[in-house]
Order: sequence, then C-alpha cells, then structure tokens
Amino acid sequence: MSGDGRIVLVTGASRGIGRAAAIALAAEKAHLILVARTVGGLEETDDAVQAAGGSATLVPLDLRDGDALDRLGASLFERWGKLDGFFANAGVLGALTPLAHLDVKLFDELLAVNVTANWRLLRSLDPLLQRSEAGRVVLVSSSLARKPRAFWGGYAMSKAALESLALTYAAECESTKVRVNILNPGPVRTAMRAKAMPGEDPETLPTPEDVAPLVAQMLSPEWSENGACLNYRESTGQE
Ligand code: NDP
Repeated sequence: MSGDGRIVLVTGASRGIGRAAAIALAAEKAHLILVARTVGGLEETDDAVQAAGGSATLVPLDLRDGDALDRLGASLFERWGKLDGFFANAGVLGALTPLAHLDVKLFDELLAVNVTANWRLLRSLDPLLQRSEAGRVVLVSSSLARKPRAFWGGYAMSKAALESLALTYAAECESTKVRVNILNPGPVRTAMRAKAMPGEDPETLPTPEDVAPLVAQMLSPEWSENGACLNYRESTGQE
C-alpha cells in the first residue's frame, strides 16, 4: 500500500475532518502524529486509528505555543529523522460578526491558530519533510479566503493569509520532492460548521468521512500536483 510506513502529522486530530483523515491514513498503515488540545478526543481518534490498522503517537498541545511547535520538530527528528506528510487542518472560526465588532482576543486567536501556528510548523517540519522520499503537505482553507463575505472577515482574513503562506511554500518546494497543496473542503458536518450555521440541517452536508479519502490521496506519494487548491465538492463533480 502507498501509505505503508509513512509518518504523517495531523493537526486538529481530536474531532471533525482531522480525525476522519487520520483514520483514512491509518487504513493505509501510516503512523500518525496526532495533535490537538483535547486528550480525550485524541484518545478516541487513537482507538479508531488502531481499529483501522494504523498506529499513532498522541501530542496534546496548544497550537498557540510556538516553542512547543519548535520542540515537536526536534522530537520527530530524533525519533524518525523524517516526516512524510503534514495535514495542516486545525482551525478556529472566531465569531461571525462585523469587523468593527470583532473581539480583539478572537482576532488574535484566528491569526495565532490559523496562520502563525502553521507557519511555525512549516518552519519546524521543513527539514524533516525534505528528508522524505515524497513529503506531502496539505493545508486546509475555505472558499472565504478568495470570496470574503460580510461578518466572516476574521476567518476569511486568516484563511487568505494561510493560502498565501501555502502557495509561497509550494513555490519554494517546486524543485524538491515535497509537494504542497491547499484543500477547500466546502461545508462539512462538524462542530465548527454547526457553530457557524446553527439553523442548518447537518444531514444535508457531507461528513468528514466523505472528505477523508481526498485528504489521504493528496498526502500520498503518488500525488504529483504542487501549489494547487482543490475543492472537495468539485472533486466529486458537484460544482
Ligand atoms: P472542528 O472544530 O471540528 O475541529 C477543529 C480542530 O482544531 C479540533 O481538533 C481542535 O482540537 C483543533 N484546534 C483548534 N484550536 C486549537 C488549538 N489552539 N490548539 C490545538 N488544536 C486546536 O473543525 P473542522 O473539522 O470543521 O475543521 C477542520 C478544518 O477545516 C479547519 O481548518 C476549518 O477552518 C476547515 N474548514 C471546515 C469547514 C466545515 O464546514 N467544517 C469548511 C471549510 C473549511 P482541540 O479543540 O481539541 O484543541
């Protein structure tokens, strides 16, 4: 199997899209490094990963702790000497409100989790990804990054910044074995979506498990595209 023996780091692995992606990668026998704050959620993902035939190392941390992200790269280097995949999935929504009303703390959190943490991780993990035979990075964005909408400004700003980082890193990796791409999952049945759209019937939305195979594909050695932005819905021919 293509994922056999690969070491893949997944952020936001305690629930939602991150958990489903970890389980899909486990089915390909990858070893997962699972990152989030909620230990119980990480343990549930670990159980599901093992049931799917994979194995995991749990790393409970707050992505706002930049020093911990630096230490993570160093620990992974000591243990495995390389990293084959990085699914930069963790994110926060902030609050849906006019920009002029957005709380300063929430604005700072949007930047810290959705942008700065991913840059700190790329910085910490790049030497490891470059040592892989086929390093693959997928960063999770949103259609709002390119089509801002009233009241979603903080979140949209953070995803636009993330896409800029992603495309810059992709360009820097062009002549290497590392491939860097963006995934826009579209609306998915998760806690974040329920918070954003409380009146919506979740049954009408794709599940994280629907999206996970595309994530696994984009993280596989066979994936050759670089600097692309894939839309889950378009990939299924829905839009
Ligand atoms: P969830 O809210 O279900 O999961 C978010 C994950 O991020 C959790 O595992 C959470 O773990 C982790 N996380 C949040 N803050 C921190 C932090 N400070 N430190 C460590 N981990 C953190 O969201 P989704 O699964 O829906 O979202 C996954 C990604 O997909 C996000 O980037 C989101 O923006 C994007 N997306 C989602 C869409 C949707 O409709 N669901 C649509 C478009 C994009 P914990 O709380 O345990 O720390």
